[in-house]
Amino acid sequence: MKPVRTRFAPSPTGYLHIGGARTALFSWAFARRHGGQFILRIEDTDVARSTPEAVQAILDGMAWLELTHDEGPFYQMQRTDRYKAVIQEMLAAGTAYYCYTSREELDALRAEQEARKEKPRYDGRWRPEIGKTLPPPPAGVEPVVRFKNPVNGVVAWNDAVKGRIAIANAELDDLIIARADGTPTYNFCVCVDDWDMGITHVIRGDDHVNNTPRQINILQALGAEIPTYAHLSMILGDDGTKLSKRHGAVSVMQYEEEGFLTEAVINYLARLGWSHGDDEVFSRAQFIEWFDLDHITASAAQFNTEKLLWLNQHYMKQLPAAELAAKTRPYLARLNVETDSGPCLEKAVALYVDRCNTLCALAEAVKVFYQPVEPSAELLAQHLTDECRPALADFTAGIATVAWDIPSIAALIKATLSQHNLKMPKLAMPLRAMLVGQTQTPSVDAVIELLGREQVLTALKKYL
Ligand code: GLU
Repeated sequence: MKPVRTRFAPSPTGYLHIGGARTALFSWAFARRHGGQFILRIEDTDVARSTPEAVQAILDGMAWLELTHDEGPFYQMQRTDRYKAVIQEMLAAGTAYYCYTSREELDALRAEQEARKEKPRYDGRWRPEIGKTLPPPPAGVEPVVRFKNPVNGVVAWNDAVKGRIAIANAELDDLIIARADGTPTYNFCVCVDDWDMGITHVIRGDDHVNNTPRQINILQALGAEIPTYAHLSMILGDDGTKLSKRHGAVSVMQYEEEGFLTEAVINYLARLGWSHGDDEVFSRAQFIEWFDLDHITASAAQFNTEKLLWLNQHYMKQLPAAELAAKTRPYLARLNVETDSGPCLEKAVALYVDRCNTLCALAEAVKVFYQPVEPSAELLAQHLTDECRPALADFTAGIATVAWDIPSIAALIKATLSQHNLKMPKLAMPLRAMLVGQTQTPSVDAVIELLGREQVLTALKKYL
């Protein structure tokens, strides 16, 4: 078998979105699975819509996902000479021809066809045929170049996802492959690239299914081997409609911004339209080992934000505390929170990771330990009642000398409660309010231990 060569060929017209990332992941994984090569190609021939920022967004997204390419990035705009050379070869070989039909003539043709209720298509008036005499080229008209599509038979392929697809050549008219100004057109460039780059498997979104019969015909005319095609079904949003900005984050880098881990996003994307039995959680290495085209589903995959959040928390919990802290620090920095003074960040994130499913949420949760806490007057009034003040005073006295570990602090809380005949919330809630300005926290003994004796004493003395 030939070595596998796949490509990801985004058009740089926006950010790298989730659908594109899934296509990139599958192409990358297939190459890795087979010890092949993964190529990055930037399809920037739509000069009006392509931007350098969008190119950068693609590169950033791929880097963040750690989908490394072996060759490229190739830019189509830098390959124009090659496309033009191939067009000349095709003209010489008779697989393409000049067409001088003007815009007005095409409009008239379309109007006639529509009046007859026919599908509008080029009628082949400049198409050379044996025994056919073409009119002399009109003066002053720059011709386009058309591909001489076969007229008979069908063009068919066994799509690795969708199964056999066959289109009658009669359905396809002669595609323009070079415009009057000589610039090559999109479908043609893709063919030359896939051919030159030796692509064996084209894995792409199924919005390209309609291009495939045309591309196969062109590749055949070039004498190129036809790659295997795998057209991935689209991704639907949580609500079952086509995934769009309405559904929240669609740009890959937005997931980074919202505090998702690369590995969680990779694991999540891997399951968007592909499965390995019932496995939901697996590593990148396992994915590469298991990935195949046979288990890609032909039906649309539905985005499930809850599941992504769950996976993200799973991966956060798997991280050693030091690594989780290191990954959370930039998100704290974005909140202008410095962690140099205050409790050990490793301990803080370890304490809060069970309650947070993104790094952003984790940073938000632990920031109370690194900035002045200002409990609202209402919160204090609600919890710092006369009923619990004496117990809090005793507890504060105990805190000054208690051994500084969670069991000792827990024992002090328990002893204070029983001495004053109070239930846990009567102590825990005012303590939380005073210490961190909120009543939703992990176990209060752990919060106290994390804060440290000095900080706890200072805070309690302020309010008692
Ligand atoms: N440039 C195309 C896109 O961004 C992909 C073309 C292909 O994969 O063949 O949709």
